[in-house]
Amino acid sequence: RGVYNFAAGPATLPLSVLQRAQAELVDYRGSGMSIMEMSHRGKEFDAAIKKAEADLRALLAVPDTHEVLFLQGGATTQFAAAPLNLCASPADPADFVVSGSWSDKAFKEAKKYSAASVAWSGKAAKYTSLPADFGAMSQNPEARFLHICSNETIHGVEFKDYPEPRNEAGLLVADMSSNFCSKPVDVSRFGLIYAGAQKNVGPSGVTIAIVRKDLVGSAQPITPVMLDYKTHADNASLYNTPPCFAIYICGLVFEDLLAQGGLAEVEKKNQHKAGILYDTIDASAGYFVCPVDKPVRSLMNVPFTLAKGADSEKQFIAEAAKEGMLQLKGHRSVGGVRASIYNAMPLSGVEKLVAFMKDFQARNP
Ligand code: PLP
Repeated sequence: RGVYNFAAGPATLPLSVLQRAQAELVDYRGSGMSIMEMSHRGKEFDAAIKKAEADLRALLAVPDTHEVLFLQGGATTQFAAAPLNLCASPADPADFVVSGSWSDKAFKEAKKYSAASVAWSGKAAKYTSLPADFGAMSQNPEARFLHICSNETIHGVEFKDYPEPRNEAGLLVADMSSNFCSKPVDVSRFGLIYAGAQKNVGPSGVTIAIVRKDLVGSAQPITPVMLDYKTHADNASLYNTPPCFAIYICGLVFEDLLAQGGLAEVEKKNQHKAGILYDTIDASAGYFVCPVDKPVRSLMNVPFTLAKGADSEKQFIAEAAKEGMLQLKGHRSVGGVRASIYNAMPLSGVEKLVAFMKDFQARNP
């Protein structure tokens, strides 16, 4: 399409998926209607959502112990839904690893519906690290769950392994919005995984929750019907009108990921893409700087600064845009540069970016 979109989300989608959606947009598989125009209770959409769920289950090897739910309200709504569903009352404790802006938001929202506390915070180190020793985190044995954000989209910090929850219920909850389906995950280790779709698996508008079945059905009495997992589990995500088009696109993305050989293959590609970008940063003799601890650098969001300062970063971002590399500006809260390189970012996009970085450095010593 002539440009590479390095946005953090909504993010680039596979060209083949967009082309397929385009071909089917007006007349969905001979029905004479767009899938956007169809009843969510009709046979076409029913087949589409069932296939999307089956393919996602196959991709992540989701065990039968877990429900897959297609929800609305973004991952932000799950910041409330998690404590509402998993805590019996707002007095129930819950533990949070605060490793960046997103887990901090989740923690602050959870404080309204639980006695949330911080088991570990990376704030003092400006969110550039994760706990070196998970065992040393201050977990409350009475907590209903331990919450993590598996990939901090703004700070570029990613869990490579997961902490053992030291609470009686043994529950680990993860916001996987920005690395969902970027690599295999042992779903059985989690009581709840949730993710907005708009980074790796589809357009905005649908949020996926994978929740252990025995945790469904004991939401706090004040829980709005739309935030109660039981509502959606009992109705196969069709309690009300779901985001049909977004779910359909996710289904096409899941098919594409399966066709690539599944998430182990996808992870290899992501490791290679991120590897050449971090190598370029680290080989620049301090010209480009990634502040994140090496072992926890994200494969999805690569934040970096230019040692020459903000004006130089501005010039870098503007010149890159002229060459068709878009949305490289860091999040407004941290500044700098951020390259988001989700599943659908082709290797050629990262190769073009690193060639540009080297050229920029040579031209502006
Ligand atoms: N969690 C993470 C890790 C995110 O990156 C984002 C959005 O970028 C959110 C939560 C919020 O998601 P949403 O905009 O779908 O509410």
